[in-house]
Amino acid sequence: MSSTSIFVSGATGYIAKHIIKLSISKGYKVVGSVRTAEKGEALKKQFNSDNFTYEIVTSLTNPGAFDEALKKHPEVTVFLHTASPVTFAAQDLENDILIPAIQGTKNAFSAIKKFGPQIEKVVLTSSYVAITDVTEPATHELTEESWNPTTWEKALLNPMAAYSGSKTFAEKAAWDFLKEESPKFTLAVINPVYVFGPQAFDDDAKGTLNFTAELIGSLLKLSPSDDVPETSSQFIDVRDVASAHILLFEQDFSGTRNLLSGGGFSLAGALGQIRREFPELQSTLPTVSAEEIEKYETAGKTEFDFVNNEATKKRLGFKFAAFEESVRDSVKQILDANK
Ligand code: NAP
Repeated sequence: MSSTSIFVSGATGYIAKHIIKLSISKGYKVVGSVRTAEKGEALKKQFNSDNFTYEIVTSLTNPGAFDEALKKHPEVTVFLHTASPVTFAAQDLENDILIPAIQGTKNAFSAIKKFGPQIEKVVLTSSYVAITDVTEPATHELTEESWNPTTWEKALLNPMAAYSGSKTFAEKAAWDFLKEESPKFTLAVINPVYVFGPQAFDDDAKGTLNFTAELIGSLLKLSPSDDVPETSSQFIDVRDVASAHILLFEQDFSGTRNLLSGGGFSLAGALGQIRREFPELQSTLPTVSAEEIEKYETAGKTEFDFVNNEATKKRLGFKFAAFEESVRDSVKQILDANK
């Protein structure tokens, strides 16, 4: 059993719960940050392990937000910073999306430098939206070296631009911190595309899910007269994202960006798969033609054609799950949870 203690910010998150569950199963001790005691207690029940404790960090933007939490945990040697607003419904793009993402990263890193000098490794959950401007079609190869060239002005145009800007500026702030402050810890970054797959706990598969998981969940809420959804892009399974976080601190991959993409997907393709594999749902879902699936899947594949993430795949060394597996496991879990 490992005695390593890991701090995971944003412990209530879709991705974070998978990271924590996997970490505990590997014998690590985890301290998660949550916004309220109620959320912390709910997590304690879910993880049901002496190896999980929580600290309350009420706001990412409060000066010294993580200071007290780290002062209490001198045993922590790894910090995974996943907390960041994932919302496209915010009215105030600056205060609800951009500033919490950027300031949260700066506050976490400052706290580690000041109050967690024993912390050796930090992994930051950034995003593919920090690699490229997803609002424009790609025109050149995208690798772990690529950066979204967005500006503050562009980030204020709409919620998607704000989310993209928030992840880009937060990741830049992280790398700048290392250059300017020369802390003792090293940094590795994860840049996932759309994350799909089941919730860490079946109970969480009820109601409205987090933004990306709900893209699959929302297919089950369609009715036969609804249009076939047009969304297509790239996917990665949440369990692979969790494994990547852990591998990046277990092995010495400091200084790297890791572009996690398993390929192209389309929601039309997911709908076709659900109709095929869950025939009991056929009468409640819209029909989707082979031509429609082909059209949207081609769009997803075309996007992936610009991506070269060979360096990430070689570094991580495991095969990413197929989109069909993420969809199948998510749908089964949602159907079971809502029985
Ligand atoms: P999620 O389920 O919405 O989790 C977000 C986490 O951040 C939650 O713990 C949330 O706390 C916390 N958080 C959000 N805004 C906050 C704020 N203003 N102050 C304090 N805490 C705040 O989303 P997720 O999909 O797991 O995302 C986790 C990370 O992965 C994020 O950094 C996200 O940008 C990144 N990412 C996600 C995807 C994806 O497709 N899902 C893709 C690429 C990157 P509460 O539960 O209290 O709200």
